[in-house]
Amino acid sequence: MTLENIKVLVVDDDEVSRIGCERILELSKYEVDLAEDGMEGLEKIRNNNYDLVVTDLMMPRMDGMQFLEEIRKIDEKIVPIVITGYATIENAVDAVKKGAYDYLAKPFTPDEFRAKIERALEKRRLLLEAEKLRAEHIIEKTRTNTIINCMSEGVIATNKEGQILLINPAALKMLRLKDGDVFGKNVLGLLSNPDLEKKIANALSKVTSCEILEKFEVNLGNGRVLQPNITPVIDENGALIGTVTVLIDVSEEKKIDQMKTDFLSLVAHELKAPLGAIEGYLNLILEGVITGNPEKEKDYITKSRDRANELLAMVNDLLDLTRAEKKVTAKVMSALDISSVLRGTCEFYKNEAKAKDINFACDIPDQLPAIRGNEEDMGRVFDNLVSNAIKYTPEHKSVHVQVTVEKNKINVIVKDTGIGMSEEDKHKIFDEFYRAKNAVSQRISGTGLGLSIAKRIIEDHNGYIEIDSDLVNGSTFTVVLPVIEENIK
Ligand code: ADP
Repeated sequence: MTLENIKVLVVDDDEVSRIGCERILELSKYEVDLAEDGMEGLEKIRNNNYDLVVTDLMMPRMDGMQFLEEIRKIDEKIVPIVITGYATIENAVDAVKKGAYDYLAKPFTPDEFRAKIERALEKRRLLLEAEKLRAEHIIEKTRTNTIINCMSEGVIATNKEGQILLINPAALKMLRLKDGDVFGKNVLGLLSNPDLEKKIANALSKVTSCEILEKFEVNLGNGRVLQPNITPVIDENGALIGTVTVLIDVSEEKKIDQMKTDFLSLVAHELKAPLGAIEGYLNLILEGVITGNPEKEKDYITKSRDRANELLAMVNDLLDLTRAEKKVTAKVMSALDISSVLRGTCEFYKNEAKAKDINFACDIPDQLPAIRGNEEDMGRVFDNLVSNAIKYTPEHKSVHVQVTVEKNKINVIVKDTGIGMSEEDKHKIFDEFYRAKNAVSQRISGTGLGLSIAKRIIEDHNGYIEIDSDLVNGSTFTVVLPVIEENIK
């Protein structure tokens, strides 16, 4: 660090001495101010930034020693040099003891004076440098603290005795601790988690390298799981000085992992049953067990086809789900008359209903006020509701599809007299993969995905779906869709 525009204040009641000092300093290109006594000197110091003050000790109005003390109060980094006659040299030594940087006895040569000034400037340079470093250190420390305090991961630092030196708000929250309770205390018995405490203690007793210890998980209950990474802190001589533990909340990942596992086993299970049945029917045909019985053969082939259709529907549901998750389908919404979509659905499921001897009635007006929607998506919704109604309705019962139009909305009602569902199930059937007990206990196959996809689509169309169901009368699903404003009559 180099000093620029060096400013020196010379305080002396002796004019000759004052001017002499000024000349020498100006020759060295320093900026110089003069004062006749301590009072005037302090005034100038308050209003200027001096690097050095050169002062006499014996002056009127204010004693030199007191002047030195006052300088220190204003700015500790101003470097004072005392100049004094031989008679008061003892005072000068005292002055140095009390904080003056150096002294010079009068009379002195310009070279002697310059040498003292140079040394004092070196001191000034060091003082400023130290202050700058201190400020940088404080800023750095504050910055580091701010970063650590803002981290979503928990951070716990301990010394080598295992006492907590630092713990950030995220760690306190994760471990349900209060700030005041933990600082300076030993981690053992403190973190409400013996496993975590033991691992930190182990890191302090055994470890000799800075590597993160083996990964492990801490179960906090209520589905909350933490993954702590404990790193021993080693100093430059290789000695262990503490640990830093970073706590990562992996609850969400764990939940997703569990869902994936559940999903895979559900899909595997649901795929296995129809595939097994198809294989069984085909084996019976291939082994010639029913050769010569074309009726039976046709029946087995039909059953195989139905199970294959089931598989196809399930795979379609899964594909719909991934599409919805990824939002790949850029939804083209346009003015849509859903009457034709509904008629298409009814037409498609007519045979399925007939096969179960279900009384399948569809009351759909020829024309409906337009909604803003996506035809394919709407088809998906109605297909799901109608196929469910037929699937969850036993033989010889009835399914009724009906549309009512109100001022600004269309209600599509799919009513069946099927197995229905309990009050508890009613609240969950729109969750992904959820299947009502009734359906499961009656071994009716399905993935529990169709309604969650349907609900999502309906909500994308600014509509909603309602359900009325019980175990005696069956279920009624009502889809409510808003009519495009200019079509409201
Ligand atoms: P899936 O039918 O493939 O199981 P859905 O998401 O379409 O999946 O339906 C979720 C669950 O809601 C079904 O498993 C079933 O328990 C119940 N459910 C849906 N529709 C009906 C209905 N019409 N009657 C009785 N239960 C139904």
